[in-house]
Amino acid sequence: MAEKARQHYLFVTYPIQSHINPTLHLAKHLASSTSAAVTFSTAVSAHRRMVSSFPNADQEFNNGLITYLPYSDGNDEGFKRDNMDLKEHISDFRKNGQRNVSTIVGDLAAAGRPVTCIVYTLLLNWVPDVAGEHGIPSVLYWIQPATVFAIYYHFFHGFESIVRAHADEPSFTVCFPELQPLQIRDLPSYVNVPVNDTDSFNATILNSFRELFEILDREQETRVKPRVLMYTFEAWETEALASVSDIEIIPVGQWPNNTGYLFKEDEKKYMEWLDTKVEGSVVYISFGSLSVMKKEQKEEMVRGLKESKRPFLWVVRKDNREEGDGVVEIEEGGDDGMVVEWCDQVRVLAHSAVGCFVTHCGWNSTLESLVCGVPMVAVPQWSDQCTNAKLVESLWGCGVRSEVDGEGVLQGEELVRCLELVIVEGEKGVEIMNKAKNWRDKALEAVSEGGSSDVNLKAFVDDKFH
Ligand code: UDP
Repeated sequence: MAEKARQHYLFVTYPIQSHINPTLHLAKHLASSTSAAVTFSTAVSAHRRMVSSFPNADQEFNNGLITYLPYSDGNDEGFKRDNMDLKEHISDFRKNGQRNVSTIVGDLAAAGRPVTCIVYTLLLNWVPDVAGEHGIPSVLYWIQPATVFAIYYHFFHGFESIVRAHADEPSFTVCFPELQPLQIRDLPSYVNVPVNDTDSFNATILNSFRELFEILDREQETRVKPRVLMYTFEAWETEALASVSDIEIIPVGQWPNNTGYLFKEDEKKYMEWLDTKVEGSVVYISFGSLSVMKKEQKEEMVRGLKESKRPFLWVVRKDNREEGDGVVEIEEGGDDGMVVEWCDQVRVLAHSAVGCFVTHCGWNSTLESLVCGVPMVAVPQWSDQCTNAKLVESLWGCGVRSEVDGEGVLQGEELVRCLELVIVEGEKGVEIMNKAKNWRDKALEAVSEGGSSDVNLKAFVDDKFH
């Protein structure tokens, strides 16, 4: 029997931290656990920041496990989010990305390393066309929870009119197949756009999701079920996985590990500082790589943290500092707290001193917290964060969702109330902690040899999903 040609996966991702992280985890795991070759490609601007310590930062390089090969999206110096027109950006990104990724695929084939499958993440709806040009398959890697996937799926398959008609009623309840009842405020923020809004930021992103689900619909015409790799664990979201039967969802959640950072890690010795703290005593606060905390929110955070009198480690990125926001003063004021510009979040969450995570509930942060068994105070801002916060509180029971004021600000008193619930050894605190440990154990099981993520990924590579 002829030997099967070696698989070569090309992972293509949008150049932001939260898209790069899950893609790199999967790419590295695939390369180390199977015989497949793996190439990882993000836009030049992000690639340069990730590999700045390498001599030829724009060039292809192989670290012994995977090959990094960037594509140009026409914005090699990086785009400025403040003044960008999103529609224009998406259209330019598509034009340049499509052409340049296609060139990469052609060059790899010419060099005797043909790509056999392209794996792509969100906002890259043009990748299936590139794959089509070269006669190879492409597979979506969904980097949000399965529940969010199911919500979008049903939204675009029958639920759009009811959701949009109630977009301005936060407590209106929608019952999607198999999912627990969800209120409008629990849905990804992009689906809450009013019917007459076709042009806003939210409407533009919603259209990108619409196009993606149309691509999946079209794929159904060519294969029995389109396959979608998913950054979640089978045991965490059984209902959501059952909610969409037309698509072969393949949960391949991984143990997150150090990846290529787009931000410079703070030089402060925060891990050593954590070593000096009592087990489960430290509050870790971060709102991810994109959200900018407004001044009032930082002031309220300072107020709440001071009042709670607990040690804390708080990430405030360099691009989120401003005069008089109280962040610098907090350390000088004798509080038992440390503020850093960027840290190795997974290492922090895995440290036994960390007792709770005040998070915006980006999916990476949520998953990392769950995987490390750390209870959460959820302060969702936008996108899938609202759904993730709901899952944390109601489905997984491993945290609480904080209330915010009319301006979306978490007030100091509310922070204290939430911290008391999750970090104190009261009945509720113990229950939350036990649940957090339970979900962590399920993730550990899934990534071990023979666990669901391991088995699913191997079956995917062996093309067992038809
Ligand atoms: N992160 C980190 N150090 C920090 C802050 C964040 O490593 O100081 C990482 C975090 O581990 C996560 C990612 O940045 O993997 C943020 O992604 P998430 O989906 O949580 O939020 P987003 O950045 O999209 O808002």
